Amino acid sequence: MFAGSLALGALATRKSWASVPEAAAALRRTAPAGSIPHLPPMRVHMDQLTDIKVCLRPFRPMGPRLDVEKIGDKTVIHNYGHGGSGWSLSWGSANIAVGKAAATLKESVAVIGCGVIGLTSALTAQRAGKTVTIYTKALLPHTRSVRANGSWTPDSRVALTKPAGPEFAAVWEQMARYSWRTYRDYLGLPGNPIDFRDNYSLSDIPFDQRHLPPPAPGVGDYSTTGKPQHTSEFADYGDLIRDIIPNPEDIDPKDNPFPVAHARRANMMMFNFGAYGHLLLSEFYQAGGKIVIREFHNPADLKSLPEDVIINCPGYAASDWWQDKTLIPVRGQTNWLPPQADALYGVEYRGAALLSKTDGVMVQGLDFTHTLGEMIGVGNSFEHADRSEAEKAIGIFEDLFARMGKEHV
Ligand SMILES: Cc1cc2nc3c(=O)[nH]c(=O)nc-3n(C[C@H](O)[C@H](O)[C@H](O)COP(=O)(O)OP(=O)(O)OC[C@H]3O[C@@H](n4cnc5c(N)ncnc54)[C@H](O)[C@@H]3O)c2cc1C
Repeated sequence: MFAGSLALGALATRKSWASVPEAAAALRRTAPAGSIPHLPPMRVHMDQLTDIKVCLRPFRPMGPRLDVEKIGDKTVIHNYGHGGSGWSLSWGSANIAVGKAAATLKESVAVIGCGVIGLTSALTAQRAGKTVTIYTKALLPHTRSVRANGSWTPDSRVALTKPAGPEFAAVWEQMARYSWRTYRDYLGLPGNPIDFRDNYSLSDIPFDQRHLPPPAPGVGDYSTTGKPQHTSEFADYGDLIRDIIPNPEDIDPKDNPFPVAHARRANMMMFNFGAYGHLLLSEFYQAGGKIVIREFHNPADLKSLPEDVIINCPGYAASDWWQDKTLIPVRGQTNWLPPQADALYGVEYRGAALLSKTDGVMVQGLDFTHTLGEMIGVGNSFEHADRSEAEKAIGIFEDLFARMGKEHV
């Protein structure tokens, strides 16, 4: 805690938010530039598998829905559709939604949903002085939010460049900067609700030779088929916040601790769901928040609520209960192994990702074929575990660490 407050104290005197990862390095959570720490190989085998989680990313081609709608005399402010970026953008998105709620000058606010978007909206409304009740079918541990991967991925399948247009790019930047800044408050706390770790990208061929194939002729695109057809249609907004996000660092082959030709490293912010979720819920209750377990079936149900202002955060479920047909499911599966506290780092290799966090080792298949990129899972609403996908992803790291064990320990 003392080290944490020293690092955060130092941050407060600096002008640039780029120093957040520096604070993480000062806390010895990430390696200083140019140095390679001892990286213990991890125990990654199918017999360690404790859970397979499947989730649908709530993807809207035009970006998250943040408009205001009137249902009778109720004012509904939507806050859903954050694709693969909900954890990352949550605070910034909540800030926009609560700004609209505050403009109504009503004292009480209802929030529908208790995923990461609902919880951060509720907390932001409390911080703006509102009395808040969350109405939800399920609490955070049972939402799609906790079936995510849990890292800073603010423009992962959050929009398509063309339908979203430059207006959304500006809104995205505002959300990303606000969230990044808010996460500073949660660094260095007991239990590490928000953490920084090193993430290693590994490649058998030089990074600049890795390219996805171009779109096949005649497949069309979102404007002609109603669905994206190629990864190049997805928005890439990373350059808008390049000044605050740590750059990756190529690892000199002579220092490369992995038995793979090419390695690159970046500081990565990550969310430890257990500690962070618990903290958010505790903060909400401590500020006098109430939670009511309730399921809504159609917008007219809102008329029975005592609150006149409602922030609607149902995630992908908006496709049912709000009949929002702009939502496109993007299936994703995360496979969980027990935490390995002595090896807290991330690796990406051969189309799979591994993230060792205090709440478990997460292994995820991304694109085993190296041909699909962001198209993986698009339009797929199959929300059941696929064991063969887990086997494939885990096998990649089992093999890597076996080679590493022999050659580098
Ligand atoms: C595999 C995978 C990996 C991901 N990795 C990351 C990542 O690393 N970083 C990142 O930033 N994002 C990531 N995401 C995206 C992120 O998980 C989502 O954007 C985010 O969880 C959406 O949160 P939400 O609160 O809008 O929705 P949800 O978590 O689905 O919450 C919706 C809430 O609304 C309630 N609700 C729904 N319908 C009703 C109803 N009819 N009546 C009452 N209550 C209702 C639910 O019970 C729930 O409480 C990932 C997603 C997936 C699938």
